[in-house]
Amino acid sequence: MSDNRVYSYTATLMGSPILLKLFSNNKALASRVFRLIKQYENLLTVNRAPSQVMDINHAAGKHAVSVSRPVYELIRVAKAASMLENSAFNLAIGPLVKRWKIGFQGDSVPPADEIAALLAITDPAEVVLDDAASSVFLTQSGMEIDLGAIAKGYIADRVRDYLRKEGETLGLINLGGNIQTLGAPEGGWSLGIKTPFGGADELIGTLNVENKSVVTSGTYERFFEHDGKRYHHILNPRTGYPLDNELDSVTIISTNSIDGDIWTTLIYGMGVVKGCAALRARPDIEAVFVTKSKEVVVSSMQHFRFTLLDNRYRLTG
Ligand code: FAD
Ligand code: MG
Ligand code: MG
Repeated sequence: MSDNRVYSYTATLMGSPILLKLFSNNKALASRVFRLIKQYENLLTVNRAPSQVMDINHAAGKHAVSVSRPVYELIRVAKAASMLENSAFNLAIGPLVKRWKIGFQGDSVPPADEIAALLAITDPAEVVLDDAASSVFLTQSGMEIDLGAIAKGYIADRVRDYLRKEGETLGLINLGGNIQTLGAPEGGWSLGIKTPFGGADELIGTLNVENKSVVTSGTYERFFEHDGKRYHHILNPRTGYPLDNELDSVTIISTNSIDGDIWTTLIYGMGVVKGCAALRARPDIEAVFVTKSKEVVVSSMQHFRFTLLDNRYRLTG
């Protein structure tokens, strides 16, 4: 039986601060959770060899690569999201991410002709999957898969499942933008949403959830400035430049964090009006939009409560 005290454990993995909250003093369990995350990072990273995703990328234009079942399934889901009509999500965006290097050392604005050339090798239809062999083939040389917009969501769900399997009934994992919760303490989980471009502890509001994932993606997280213009890390797969719209951030509340991760990117491409319309068909997925004009728009509020804390913003929706 767990007591009421919260025990926090931290690590740095996937270039992100990781926070695990448990309701028992169980350092051994926390270590096993961090090891699990590390194992997935080692399979999925594109930042250092070897990884199964890097193996696929290195074989682009040459041959298919068989990967472990979880990696294959994640790529299958990522491809499906990429193939949706007008999708802003593209798992084959890798060459552009690598060239821009936004959030990494050496970021710069690429010349337009280079962007055009790289765009030509980002067609998700050219990611060829073979279910029977669990293999992935990138048909053009130079193609690269990048799972940065979905992998944390997938891993957050695996951590929740692991905690449940270990007999925990309460827990929270924050992978730096992706929060997944198991159960809820009395009164629910109160989770802060950051004020875009605000100080480290500045909150625009709090979300209250139980047993839900909360994923926030924003243009204020990873960006650089050049000639007075800001370039952030969510790229428009049609132009090759950062997505330009009215949003500063979007938060998705859903059961599974993988859906939250996919939908933050999809919604970034849609904006507020189209995003709200799309979510009407998905009552299981809800969004909190924060716009540049200081509005907070809530698509619906069936599975959470939101409290606005920053009085510079107006709540609508
Ligand atoms: P999201 O909005 O969820 O995703 C944005 C990211 O998705 C971009 O950074 C890019 O990678 C990709 N992307 C951009 N545009 C699109 C698009 N249109 N469609 C699909 N994908 C797009 N960071 C480090 O600094 N060092 C590391 O060593 C490092 N290792 C990592 C290893 C793994 C396995 C993962 C999952 C992430 C790692 N990261 C690392 C962080 C990574 O580079 C991204 O910054 C992070 O995944 C972005 O997540 P987000 O939730 O902030 O943004
Ligand atoms: Mg994410
Ligand atoms: Mg995402």
